[in-house]
Parts: sequence; structure tokens; C-alpha cells
Amino acid sequence: MSRYSSSGTDWERTRARVLARDAHTCAYCGREATTVDHIVAKKNGGTDDEANLVSACNRCNASKGARVMARTAWYDPEWIRRV
Ligand SMILES: [Zn+2]
Repeated sequence: MSRYSSSGTDWERTRARVLARDAHTCAYCGREATTVDHIVAKKNGGTDDEANLVSACNRCNASKGARVMARTAWYDPEWIRRV
């Protein structure tokens, strides 16, 4: 599995779109987001599709792990629109 390259890749464009979609707001804590997180981890079959990505701050993105299923359960696009 390849690592993400840092410049000019499809991933960079996808990341920028997701951040713009979510108004640069972390989906987990509401702080300013500078990264995007996979709702379903790639190792669990998640994709880089925007539907599987949410904006996240560094802190929340760094604490990913065992809570993937819980996040998936409460993640609701409607929630973002209400913020
Ligand atoms: Zn956060």
C-alpha cells in the first residue's frame, strides 16, 4: 500500500474538496480542520471517495483507531449542516 504523496495528487484535490465541503470544521470536535479522516479506515475496506471522508483537526485525526464503528454509527451528514 502506497503512502500519500504530498503535492499535486488526486488525494490532495480530494482533501481540499472535503475541507471546503465541511467549511474547514472538524467533524468530531468542531475546531478548525486541517486534515481529512476516513470514516471507514482503508484497512477495513474504506475508499478515498468523498462520501467516506470527513474533515478533522490534527488532534482528532491522530486519535483515530478503535472507535471507527462508533464514528460510523453517529456520523450523519445532516449533523454537519446543522452546525
Ligand atoms: Zn477535532
